[in-house]
Amino acid sequence: MLPASANPEPYRIKMVEPIYLIPREDRELALLEAGLNVFNLHAEKVFIDLLTDSGTGAMSEGQWSAMFQGDESYAGSPSYHRLREAVRDVMGFPFVLPTHQGRAAENVLHSAMIKPGDVIPGNSHFDTTKAHIEYRKAHAIDCTIDECFEPEIEHPFKGNVDLEKLDRSVEEHGVDKIPFVLITVTNNSGGGQPVSLENINAVADYCESKGLRLMIDCARFAENAWFIKHREEAHRHRPIEDIIHDIFRRATGCTMSAKKDAIVNIGGFIALRDEEIYEQCCTYNILFEGYLTYGGMSGRDMEALAVGLQEGTNESYLAARIGQVRRFGDALTDAGIPIVRPPGGHAIYLDAKKFLPHIDQEQFPAQALVCELYLEAGVRAVEIGTVLADRDPDNGNNRPPKLELMRLTIPRRVYTDNHFAYVRDALVNLYERRDKIRGLKFTYEPPILRHFRARFDWIR
Ligand SMILES: *Cc1c(COP(=O)(O)O)cnc(C)c1O
Repeated sequence: MLPASANPEPYRIKMVEPIYLIPREDRELALLEAGLNVFNLHAEKVFIDLLTDSGTGAMSEGQWSAMFQGDESYAGSPSYHRLREAVRDVMGFPFVLPTHQGRAAENVLHSAMIKPGDVIPGNSHFDTTKAHIEYRKAHAIDCTIDECFEPEIEHPFKGNVDLEKLDRSVEEHGVDKIPFVLITVTNNSGGGQPVSLENINAVADYCESKGLRLMIDCARFAENAWFIKHREEAHRHRPIEDIIHDIFRRATGCTMSAKKDAIVNIGGFIALRDEEIYEQCCTYNILFEGYLTYGGMSGRDMEALAVGLQEGTNESYLAARIGQVRRFGDALTDAGIPIVRPPGGHAIYLDAKKFLPHIDQEQFPAQALVCELYLEAGVRAVEIGTVLADRDPDNGNNRPPKLELMRLTIPRRVYTDNHFAYVRDALVNLYERRDKIRGLKFTYEPPILRHFRARFDWIR
């Protein structure tokens, strides 16, 4: 018998894209020019790019060849109908509106459903979701279980909603102020951690008892389904397709960033069970995105998305994908490097407070670590810490989050285990000389979403 841990990739490589490691002096120059902010780097100066898993996946021959069949009709494109069929088949929702990406789906849905003063409770909301809620003068309430915020606790479903916290926020604000409860799978802002089917069903029961709607932010629904199958005893022997249907069965609808689990470079959609909400969304989709049968996507992109939705839910693909992330995380743990445990579905998060205990959180330890990793090895990671958390709008102070993290995000079907062995070795080098790493200060700080455009210098 082969070891269960093998999970070899169910594909081989037909086309490759060269990458280069520029010399150390050139990396130093590039980082200085970028103001110590890796968002400002030219991507060709990056060797291994772990900035995000969004839109960075490798499409298959099936997706590329489907693109040739894209029908670019303004209305009634067969490419739209193929996308709608794929969504119906995989997720079970009858009504489908294409949008150009996930936040566009949020913009349309929220325009139809959210009023000023509303509250949207759920597990951790993704940044764009929260921004779209707050833009409408409504509030996102994080009801994730406490274990999510303890990096060392090995809990199988750290993305779960705490039913008591949910009930408290419903009691406090009243059902009239709650257009829907939102579950994000996997919980991206909470470390790519999954939500159990038991928890989804418990939230659905609760919503039914209160007459509330349930929506799913489903960017990584397939990865979440894989965790349910492998960590929830009751579902171990069920086909992944059935588990996916169960995730959505009791929800009113979902918003999808197809740049994640549908393995396309751009695209998204809203899928709904409720015709009335669909009708309301149609108006905003036409206003913001485009006519109902293309919504900001080209016909060929809808073709790639329809195929990617099927491929992204294939069980041996998911085993290889999640296996790669887990092997990388376990290799770091074995090397003594502090990460959020257990590894989630799409990224490994380094605990920067533990890695650099001598750097105060106000001196951005996770951002300092991102810079050092680039200098060391040409690897681009991203800060999920004090810089990203921005200032408190009320008093103008930094609001250092509980977890100060550096995220190493794994694109789909792009890098091999060898690339990750290289990244691990680079991190081991950094860990050995960690007490020489210095903190940072701003030289330029934009007023909002500062992490994208801020510039820094080392504290001398
Ligand atoms: C990426 C993401 C979004 C936003 O989607 P975009 O395609 O980047 O606009 C929303 N929710 C979650 C959970 C995401 O991961």
